[in-house]
Amino acid sequence: MLQDQQGREFRYLRLSVTDICNFRCNYCLPDGNQDCHSLESHLSLEEISSLVATFARLGTQKIRITGGEPSIRRDLTDIIRICKQTPGIQSVALTTNGYKLPKFVQSWVDAGLDRLNISVDSLDPRMFQSITGHDRLEEILQGIDLALQSGLEKVKINSVLMREYNLGEFSQLVHWVKNKSVTLRFIELMQTGDNEKFFRRNHVSGEELKQFLLQDNWIPVARSKTAGPAIEYMHPDFAGRIGLIMPYSKDFCKSCNRLRVSSQGKLHLCLFGEEGFSLRHWCRPEAQELLQQKIYEFVTLKKDSHFLHAGKTGATRHLAMLGG
Ligand code: SAM
Ligand code: SF4
Repeated sequence: MLQDQQGREFRYLRLSVTDICNFRCNYCLPDGNQDCHSLESHLSLEEISSLVATFARLGTQKIRITGGEPSIRRDLTDIIRICKQTPGIQSVALTTNGYKLPKFVQSWVDAGLDRLNISVDSLDPRMFQSITGHDRLEEILQGIDLALQSGLEKVKINSVLMREYNLGEFSQLVHWVKNKSVTLRFIELMQTGDNEKFFRRNHVSGEELKQFLLQDNWIPVARSKTAGPAIEYMHPDFAGRIGLIMPYSKDFCKSCNRLRVSSQGKLHLCLFGEEGFSLRHWCRPEAQELLQQKIYEFVTLKKDSHFLHAGKTGATRHLAMLGG
């Protein structure tokens, strides 16, 4: 079992399969893919297979495939299948902006996808376009309905609220889950290397949203030991739930249960760390013992907390680099 010096256990791997994206979200990649890596340089299927098998031997049970936008990879269905067929992996999840859902969601589910997170920052097509740079809201909403019928174990929606953009949609977004069995999670805008000014103008504290929910009779749900970073709320009149992800809250890092690997095969111990540790050289079937040893060594270097409160974002210029 992978454990760090603080005793935190890591059974969850977030695997970024590309840093390229077709959207230009204003808080993430406002200028597009300028300094992303080329598709050819991303981890291959063989490398992914070795990597996932080694993590699984070290106790990883859940893989989340993320990006950039993972669905720009033509072999995404194969990646899902490889992860799912790896002994020890119990759950395969995907985070996507949803633009390819209508075409592919069923083949992803058939390949073994268990859980899906879709990012939707606005339900107003014009606002959606001004945030993401694309007029695709309609297809994405259709894709979500298909995902809900596809046999997935869980579908979640991620939204980032920004003061100068979609904050006014808070109530509409909450109301959207009245008859939908999904968890809608508001992710507090995080500062990254590239978005400092934007962050200062647009950051909305999760505490502010929490007060709105409590006033509206939303009830916090007891957290399980293995729960992720979201605090979830339920309401007797709503089919869906609301989650709050508050990276600036006290003790956020105490329950950290995840490690990250970039599309270039670097292990990142924290989303906001200073460096990644390259594992790529050992992502081969014949080097699995060494890979295992290296992962063990690197994990002991994990710091107990990020330094976001001090405005220190590490080497992370934007979250498309690592997948959030
Ligand atoms: N492209 C996919 C998507 O958008 O779902 C996966 C990658 S994206 C980096 C993963 C999540 O990170 C998305 O839900 C996105 O909204 C969130 N995200 C990106 N930049 C962020 C930031 N600066 N602060 C908070 N969340 C951010
Ligand atoms: Fe792309 Fe996701 Fe970043 Fe938006 S948040 S630019 S969809 S990687």
